[in-house]
Amino acid sequence: MHAAPHIRLHRLLLLAPPGAGKGTQAKRLSSQFGLQHISSGELLRQEVAAGTEIGNLAKDDLARGDLVPDEVILDMVLSRVCAAARSGRGYILDGFPRTVSQAEALHQELGSEPEVYLEVAIHLSVSREELRRRLLARAHREGRADDTRSTIEHRLEVFDGLTEPLLAFYERQGLLVTVNGEQSEDQVTAALLDVLGARPARV
Ligand code: ADP
Repeated sequence: MHAAPHIRLHRLLLLAPPGAGKGTQAKRLSSQFGLQHISSGELLRQEVAAGTEIGNLAKDDLARGDLVPDEVILDMVLSRVCAAARSGRGYILDGFPRTVSQAEALHQELGSEPEVYLEVAIHLSVSREELRRRLLARAHREGRADDTRSTIEHRLEVFDGLTEPLLAFYERQGLLVTVNGEQSEDQVTAALLDVLGARPARV
């Protein structure tokens, strides 16, 4: 029997294209370590389902696989992220920031507080072929509105154009680590635990 390990880093961003496994891994880590999981995609889908003003603003972009405008996202997520960050529990950002200007806004809010700002930005790297395969499989399983063949291609292009530049942004901040996201879910979790500095619980 293994006791739950401890981790050394508690404030992370998962940075990866659609289908790379951000949500799956974020859920695992947040439940194992009590980190707050903030998924901008989940929050948007909830806003759409509840028919709120943000939901109505975001709905068409979501369905097309376009990014929702930065102002709308920042409005929805920034204060939540700051509250989670300052709560001291630790947090996992999944899907936000997704553009350089979102990353700059986050840095402007928290960058001067090293004890609450991100400790690591983890890039899950997965080949294009594998991403397409996983997204189509998810389309069959979950029927998410943006998991259709043409929308998937568009989301991958949007990632390359608008989100990929974040890799250089976090590299410059000395926060970027790349993990091979093409392994099994358990192997990816193990690799993430390694990055987070997991060590076995003392008995
Ligand atoms: P995936 O990573 O599989 O695309 P998400 O649930 O993270 O799934 O995001 C789904 C959609 O929500 C995106 O295609 C985009 O329209 C919107 N979205 C999520 N996060 C953001 C963000 N930070 N900025 C702009 N749009 C976003």
